[in-house]
Amino acid sequence: MSTSVSDSVSSRISADPGEALRPAIKDQDLAGLEARFERQGIPAFRARQIFRWLYAKSPASFDEMTNLSREFRVALECEWDLHVMEERRSETSGDGTRKWLFALRDGNLIETVLIPEYGRNTLCISTQVGCAMKCSFCLTGTEGFVRNLSTAEILDQICQVKRGEPERKITNVVLMGMGEPLLNYDAVIRAIRVMSDSAGLGISSRRITLSTVGVLPKLRRLLEDVNVSIAISLHAASNEIRGRLVPLNKKYPIEDLIGACRELSLPARRRITFEYTLIEGVNDALEEADRLARLLHGIPSKVNLIPLNENPGLPYRRPTETRVAEFQSRLRVRGVNAVRRATRGADISAACGQLKGRRETDPVASGSH
Ligand code: SAH
Repeated sequence: MSTSVSDSVSSRISADPGEALRPAIKDQDLAGLEARFERQGIPAFRARQIFRWLYAKSPASFDEMTNLSREFRVALECEWDLHVMEERRSETSGDGTRKWLFALRDGNLIETVLIPEYGRNTLCISTQVGCAMKCSFCLTGTEGFVRNLSTAEILDQICQVKRGEPERKITNVVLMGMGEPLLNYDAVIRAIRVMSDSAGLGISSRRITLSTVGVLPKLRRLLEDVNVSIAISLHAASNEIRGRLVPLNKKYPIEDLIGACRELSLPARRRITFEYTLIEGVNDALEEADRLARLLHGIPSKVNLIPLNENPGLPYRRPTETRVAEFQSRLRVRGVNAVRRATRGADISAACGQLKGRRETDPVASGSH
């Protein structure tokens, strides 16, 4: 970690000393930008105008904001950093899923995945470089934690994808890429506000889904701050099994997690999604399905079954198709709305639990996909 910090400082200084000193404009929500402009004697409507430019059009430079005076564009250019990452690579899967690898200013890499489906386009974004949760079946978890993303880095993933795929309207956002969003709470909340702001990305907040392993103090606060949809990475109905998969379960055991879910003040007709990655011989017994049905009884919920995406080097396997179908129907007969999440983008390692970011200086970077 200490090397990565000092590397980051030196690479920034050598790249362009002025650049690192400018604040990122996408770190501001609309109220923040308005306040800043007000202090500088710039009329508040300008903030809204620039916000529209940033998020509706995703320009490559301030110079593209052609309805602003040249003088103002230059002033903005001097004051603010517009993009905080660069596209390094993108790959498209046979099923249309597209994955981008972005390099951050300090050389860290993150991945973002666009999943086109009938009638909608879902973007899966990262909230941290690496992840501290160490879930034993997740590739991102095995890499360890590097750092939080800033609000600008969270939002710029969406802006860059919009720019790369201008004909595709991003209708849904899932915070299901690298990282645990609730451990980067403030930056994530501000990013969600910009996503859902009609002057920002204009994506309705119920079409934004935050997925978490269940950091309880933050989960309890979440719906007071933003009206998003919630997905909980559950993966087992008993502490014995969940504890082996999700280390955080030792701190917040299942009964506390489910208790907190029961107390969430969900908007009308909103359900909690429980993600359940099916792993052969670990959590795919039909008795576990029975326990799960009992556990979720009375919670407005749906269960998303994700047959494990296997990662070489990790000792877990995907159950047979028959077992996945049996597990699903066992839940259904017990009254649980269990759906199977289609695996998308597996051929380009873009599926759940397959994202990894490596620094460009890392010799395995180019061979990792
Ligand atoms: N940290 C958050 C956000 C990541 S979401 C969370 O855990 O919810 C990524 C989802 O994919 C999580 O539900 C995660 O448990 C699941 N996942 C991780 N590795 C996987 C794998 N190898 N196969 C299938 N799903 C996986």
